[in-house]
Amino acid sequence: MAQESTSRNRGKYTAAIIGAGPAGCICAYYLQEYLDVTLFDKGKFLRTILPTGGGRCNLAHAEYDFRELAANYPRGEKFLYSVFSKFGTSDTVDFFEKIGVKVYTQDDNRIFPVSNSSADVRDKLLKSISKCHFVKEGVNKIQPLENCWKVETEKSTYAFDYVIVATGGHSGYELLKKLDIKIQPPTQSLVGLTTKEDFSSIAGVSVNDILFTHKGLSGPSIYKISSIRARDEFPYKLSLHLASCPDFQEDLNSNPHKEIKNLLGQIIPKSLALWILNSQNINPETPCHNIDGKTRDKILNKLTDFEVTVTGKVPDGEVVTCGGVDLKGINSKTLESKQYSGLYFCGEVLDIDGFCGGFNLQNCWSTGYIVSQSIINA
Ligand SMILES: Cc1cc2nc3c(=O)[nH]c(=O)nc-3n(C[C@H](O)[C@H](O)[C@H](O)COP(=O)(O)OP(=O)(O)OC[C@H]3O[C@@H](n4cnc5c(N)ncnc54)[C@H](O)[C@@H]3O)c2cc1C
Repeated sequence: MAQESTSRNRGKYTAAIIGAGPAGCICAYYLQEYLDVTLFDKGKFLRTILPTGGGRCNLAHAEYDFRELAANYPRGEKFLYSVFSKFGTSDTVDFFEKIGVKVYTQDDNRIFPVSNSSADVRDKLLKSISKCHFVKEGVNKIQPLENCWKVETEKSTYAFDYVIVATGGHSGYELLKKLDIKIQPPTQSLVGLTTKEDFSSIAGVSVNDILFTHKGLSGPSIYKISSIRARDEFPYKLSLHLASCPDFQEDLNSNPHKEIKNLLGQIIPKSLALWILNSQNINPETPCHNIDGKTRDKILNKLTDFEVTVTGKVPDGEVVTCGGVDLKGINSKTLESKQYSGLYFCGEVLDIDGFCGGFNLQNCWSTGYIVSQSIINA
């Protein structure tokens, strides 16, 4: 850290990292041996890692091919090729092992710490960056001067050779607007969706990774859709695949006296079966032998092409930001601003966001690392 007059006076270059979230902290880790690093945060350092993975910290995804990994980012895919080719999933695992966080891979390829504790990851990561200065102050302004960057907080003014913006997806854009840096408008991704249809009578029912809620829909499949369609205007229609039943006619034939609600209840949760039958004005007690071809097709159609009208978002998921610093203004090899020399970006502040499953933290680890190497080699 250096007050305005003391930039470079320690013989080492100085760097300010604004935002001590996952991206800022990994960047600090790699920089601290080479530069005099100051981390600024307006709140508790690295607190944003605590709720991740439901408190277990899903810190990466076991996808080791950089192109396949990048395919999980609706915003940023191509930009991330160069980033992930230099720091991918195996580098993340190595990094955590190095700072004392052993990890394991779940059956669904999500990677977690063996401790299953984000608090543990936070402690180890904070310990690993002990050579840095920690300043608990919100940064209000950054400004390029002739030979350095001026950083203004609510309490003081500092000067640095390099500034790294790692302010995440929820704030920090104001700092950048003052510098005329283009921001893609932020909107929420990885969220639940509200629907025109009322599913409150089946709230809590889950099928094929789709969860019906009081307000509409949620669950892993819906989070993914909310990400892909993050910028779509409301209302829009969705067609959902609830279940496959290629032998439905055969099932009807072999259970002639079974009520249709019970047969359908073997394929999908019974309350959902009832909801579907009622929505189609089909008597749930109809014996299967009385289900004619037209009625059968109506039911089948609901199972494979369940149409809903989406009316809005509910912030009940991982909630990451779609939008942020426009990638066109950033050099993808160095993550330095094309407008300002010495200004770098990493993490969610960039217009990069991925699906659930460890991809958003991976973006932080990878971009944080790239920024550190660009500065060390500048
Ligand atoms: C509930 C929840 C669960 C999640 N679970 C997962 C998961 O399991 N796996 C996964 O991959 N992703 C997960 N994510 C997403 C992941 O947490 C984020 O993508 C990640 O935290 C972004 O890191 P970051 O360092 O870019 O920014 P942040 O974590 O947002 O950190 C930015 C920091 O900058 C500080 N800051 C901002 N502006 C200023 C300023 N002007 N001055 C000083 N400080 C400032 C903030 O206080 C903050 O501490 C989850 C998100 C949520 C909300």
